[in-house]
Amino acid sequence: MLCPCGSTLLFNTCCKLFITQKQVPCTAEQLMRSRFSAYATKEGQYIFDTYSATAQLKLSVPEIQVWADECLWLALVVHNSTESMVEFSAYYLVDNTLYELREKSNFTLEQERWCYIDGDIIVHKELISNNGTSTIKRSDICPCNRFPTAWSIKKGKKFKHCCAR
Ligand SMILES: [Zn+2]
Ligand SMILES: [Zn+2]
Repeated sequence: MLCPCGSTLLFNTCCKLFITQKQVPCTAEQLMRSRFSAYATKEGQYIFDTYSATAQLKLSVPEIQVWADECLWLALVVHNSTESMVEFSAYYLVDNTLYELREKSNFTLEQERWCYIDGDIIVHKELISNNGTSTIKRSDICPCNRFPTAWSIKKGKKFKHCCAR
């Protein structure tokens, strides 16, 4: 399986190494990508563990797990990154509707590990499909086809045979 983070590497040789704690991300962008992959593979504990200590006080693993489970994470596009900031768009489906969440996320090192502090949402909207509505019909080409690096992609397949549930 391709890595959900869009690196075009295999999941086993990319973000899975971080999620299973075999390696530690060296940069904020690596950490951010691995958090997206953890959402995509529904690893709530990893998402929790990679928040900053202060952010963790206001969160719980079950709460994160609900959000990860509810969404089908389709693709990640990193727009730009600095040492401690990453701006990205995450694309996901809920109730057969495609959403874009574009965020500028802030990261910091805590005990020599990168962690997520918080983010500013730039865009959070429904994306309109070819038929002019935001609801994807089961006979439409699956929206993951819009994202060449989407890990779930089955080229040219109808939604009902691809990412639909
Ligand atoms: Zn990855
Ligand atoms: Zn699909």
